[in-house]
Amino acid sequence: MNSTDLLTVAVICILFFIYKKWDVIKELIFSNDDHISAVNSGSRDIVQVVLENNKNYLVLFGSQTGTAEDYAKKFSKELSSKFNLNVLCADLELYDYDTLSELPNNVLVSIFMSTYGEGDFPDGAIPFETFLTTTGENSLTNLNFSIFGLGNSTYEFYNGAARKVLKYLQSAGGNLLGSIGEGDDATGSTDEDYLTWKESIMAELKNKLHLEEQEHKFKSTFKYETLPEINSHVSLGEPTSKYLPSEPAFTGPFTAAQPFIAPIIKSHELFTSVERNCIHSEFDISSSNISYSTGDHLGIWPSNATEKVQQFLNVFNLNPDTIFNLVSQDKTIKVPFPCPTTVGAVIRHYLEITGPVSRQFFEHLIQFAPNSSIKEKLTKLAKDKDAFQQEITSKYFNLADALLYLSGGSKWESIPWEFLIENIPKLQPRYYSISSSSLSERNTIHVTSVVENTPNPKTGSNIVGVTTNLLRNIQLAQNKQLQSTEINPLPVHYDLNGPRDLFANYKLPVHVRQSTFRLPQNIETPVIMIGPGTGVAPFRGFIRERVAQVEKDNSIKLGKHILFYGCRNEQDYLYQEEWSKYATVLGESFEMNVAFSRVPGTKKVYVQDKLNEMSSDIWDLLKKGAYIYVCGDAGRMAKDVSRTFINILQKGHGINEAEALEMVKALKTAGKYQEDVW
Ligand code: FAD
Repeated sequence: MNSTDLLTVAVICILFFIYKKWDVIKELIFSNDDHISAVNSGSRDIVQVVLENNKNYLVLFGSQTGTAEDYAKKFSKELSSKFNLNVLCADLELYDYDTLSELPNNVLVSIFMSTYGEGDFPDGAIPFETFLTTTGENSLTNLNFSIFGLGNSTYEFYNGAARKVLKYLQSAGGNLLGSIGEGDDATGSTDEDYLTWKESIMAELKNKLHLEEQEHKFKSTFKYETLPEINSHVSLGEPTSKYLPSEPAFTGPFTAAQPFIAPIIKSHELFTSVERNCIHSEFDISSSNISYSTGDHLGIWPSNATEKVQQFLNVFNLNPDTIFNLVSQDKTIKVPFPCPTTVGAVIRHYLEITGPVSRQFFEHLIQFAPNSSIKEKLTKLAKDKDAFQQEITSKYFNLADALLYLSGGSKWESIPWEFLIENIPKLQPRYYSISSSSLSERNTIHVTSVVENTPNPKTGSNIVGVTTNLLRNIQLAQNKQLQSTEINPLPVHYDLNGPRDLFANYKLPVHVRQSTFRLPQNIETPVIMIGPGTGVAPFRGFIRERVAQVEKDNSIKLGKHILFYGCRNEQDYLYQEEWSKYATVLGESFEMNVAFSRVPGTKKVYVQDKLNEMSSDIWDLLKKGAYIYVCGDAGRMAKDVSRTFINILQKGHGINEAEALEMVKALKTAGKYQEDVW
């Protein structure tokens, strides 16, 4: 090793010491994504960027899946269009904060922070957390800030990251404006939680900064120009510019910002019922540098269905073949997708065009209403939460559906394309718990996805999920079963070949996200797993891992591994034929308990009922230091299971409910009770 190598190793060790997560370090060291270079501004010093660009408001976001980023951008845009503020909207990942104490106190700060896992910061915001934990008392008395957190109340450490930011900033002398806002994904109320918080914060800002409110008028951040013809620099929907033909063949490193285009080498239907579908897909990662650990997540980058793209083009009367380029007018704001590109590519690959519409979006649309009667309707819906719920949300309308409904089927030609680009969120990767084991399947990643396709009770059409229907389309095409869909037709179809045939032969862009869902190191430690529905996915991976370990050395002594699985009936019993094979290898150390909730003529049984039935066995395992894992539905299941464990601990220890609750919390903090719920 020469001295440069030694230096590199030393730097990596220091980074590992600081950030603890290899994924974050890989991003920092190896990522060559365009946006990592501090948003064109040339500096990572946040205060320098604010001052050099004459910004008078700072919005910071820490985002794991893109939702916090989306809210931060909406908030920033509203601040500039309503109050003419010059806002810097910054991803926490891209800046350093050592000079934050020098931020002028009239530059107010709003922080949008999502919580990941057990009250953790998103990966990209971990350096910000390190900064906050090491900043001295009263070192940030200049800071006037507000916070909106994005979380899920099913988790023990609800909005944990945002609450930590508040605590750290207040102990550093920062001054909180209004109160902390908390969006709750578990109740589906994030949008309304945000609007309530935003209204109170904007009123506060108006007062504090003596702002004059102006009429909402869209001003584009980008200079838009059309181009005459497609060449190798024009993106046709490539996941990033690294995949353009004008670039050298991209061989990695593959990260969350630069996905790997993985071949799906095998896929099959798991349900035997005709009405519902669950797809098992195997992604080949052998020709990438991607590695994963059992329990990690796979991010799948979807594209929109052809029917939805067509509907969107029609509503706004857009020509998919228009080629255009965007140039940012503000060097702190980056272009949201690879440019130049085409209108059709943007709608298919880069914008979230389906999914619910937000009430706030309607407020921004008022300025483009085609006539006074529609303007009146839009204004009412934008202001009236209940009317919006009844007229739009409860009908499962996406943006195009909602606009066609309001205009009685007429097109909305007056909405500028730039407005749509800047206001519709970016199409985000969807995450899946990996259902293979990195020990037994080093070169493939398995995913188990239930297809989102339910009849819309209000309109008669179907409510469909983007990614899961794409995976079903691939499964049917790959197995040449497209003609077998008479009983359960495909609600939507996709361009499976992708831009310039990049996805031909069943490929999709993917990346691995590290999770904290990990089997105990000591194989003798008992393991209790609860995973109804596709919640069983990571447990298939766990059990395959134990099978691989035993097959490698059959003298090892495994602790008890007990799995509680729940399904409706035999038809959606996932991997039914596999579990008995695992039991043959693992013997008595593996036990499976299945709860059926919809077998005609029998009582509904859920996983928590099974847990209750076996409470004395569970108590024995807990006394031996068992680890608990819960995966699946974030709604009721995770809470019901937690309550069941509280009861078991209460009885076992002879303590009261509050003490048992504290015990469950302590188990969670110690990583001995892990949840992976969505
Ligand atoms: P989306 O397009 O994201 O739609 C989401 C839902 O909204 C669907 O039910 C859809 O029908 C509905 N919808 C669509 N349009 C509208 C509208 N206009 N109004 C209202 N509702 C609408 N899922 C699995 O199946 N298996 C797993 O192992 C798994 N693991 C996960 C692990 C993690 C950490 C997380 C966060 C999630 C996991 N999920 C898993 C869920 C998964 O990420 C996706 O959310 C899910 O598959 C749906 O994705 P989609 O793109 O098909 O649906």
